[in-house]
Amino acid sequence: MPATESHLLPVYSPPEQLFVRGEGCWIWDDKGERYLDCIAGIAVDALGHAPPVLVKALTEQAGKLWHTSNMFKIKGQEELAAKYCAHSFADVVFFTNSGTEAIEGSLKTVRKFHTANGNPERIDIIGFQGSFHGRSYAAINASGNPSYLEGFGPKLPGYLQAPFGDIEAVKKLVGPTTAGIIIEPVQGEGGVRAAPEAFLKALRKLADDNGFLLIFDEVQSGAGRTGKLWAHEWAGVTPDVMAVAKGVGGGFPMGAFLATREAAKGMVKGVHGTTFGGNPLAMAVGNACFDELSQPKLLEHVNVVANRLGQALEGVKDRHPNLVVETRGRGLLRGLKLRIDPKPLQAKLRDRKVLVGVAGENVLRMAPPLIIDEAQISQAVDAIDAVFAEQMAEAGA
Ligand SMILES: *Cc1c(COP(=O)(O)O)cnc(C)c1O
Repeated sequence: MPATESHLLPVYSPPEQLFVRGEGCWIWDDKGERYLDCIAGIAVDALGHAPPVLVKALTEQAGKLWHTSNMFKIKGQEELAAKYCAHSFADVVFFTNSGTEAIEGSLKTVRKFHTANGNPERIDIIGFQGSFHGRSYAAINASGNPSYLEGFGPKLPGYLQAPFGDIEAVKKLVGPTTAGIIIEPVQGEGGVRAAPEAFLKALRKLADDNGFLLIFDEVQSGAGRTGKLWAHEWAGVTPDVMAVAKGVGGGFPMGAFLATREAAKGMVKGVHGTTFGGNPLAMAVGNACFDELSQPKLLEHVNVVANRLGQALEGVKDRHPNLVVETRGRGLLRGLKLRIDPKPLQAKLRDRKVLVGVAGENVLRMAPPLIIDEAQISQAVDAIDAVFAEQMAEAGA
């Protein structure tokens, strides 16, 4: 038995490193070793680690007022909601603590819309294979991923899944009880797959033609990650409801769901709520973070470095065709689909002081801070090249 047995629920198995400090795209462990962070807490530390603007916003607010609950007005919520709406399709916003709660609220909004319209039988939510929407009951049912559902009792009624990108399969699932469709414009956990723009357009039309709502889960793909503020902007269509989190808080746990006034018509006084969501600390950071994310200059930077990363990963694929099946993703949310389990390669990259993630079936995932520069991208890609070359040499030996 280990000298000290952990009292943490063993649902994770993190590596040995203990990170204690960060600055920009760099992060240091307790031994003083420096790592290049190309996963950013899974697309969360959008502005890098300890960005001065967020540190200032948080510490200033921490000295004033932390929490009152939503039984009182919170000025930062009004301000941030107005900013989100000015920069999106939405008219109204509800603040949450996490992506999962943003998804819950989105799903509830959609069902309540139909109830408000006198159609309470319209409960079916169509999701997609390979999707990820969080770990609550509604979220795991919406995603339908058996590995998240198994052992937690029967599946909830009203959740259906179609293959990602297959509009004919979606059409077959649509009927009189359809309430809405939920989709990530770029699947994150599911393997870094960008939905074809024509597919998103077709879903929008299907929703309009059949009187149901469209939810975009932009928890991972939003907040400037793909080089647009919201990934769906690339497709030129808007949803009725959108869930955001991860990058919008820059590392402070916060999220939101956004909706048109029409889509949110059922969400009236008393039907939904939260104790912590949108508290003054979260709003101080959320406002400061969004002021940065919504700068055209930052998005221009993301597009420049993302193109560089995309090209570099194509090069990796070309040099290691026996290892890499394809490159995936968009902007600074990228994946390399491999022929083997990427976890040992992820560990070898960590040995070379580069942090990356994994996703879906055999996908190595990168989601660095949006402020990453070209030299850091080169460093990361050089490390990937070296580790892949090593892997091929070992496999050949
Ligand atoms: C991470 C994620 C969620 C869940 O967010 P949490 O903050 O972990 O609750 C939902 N949807 C997508 C697309 C995500 O990437």
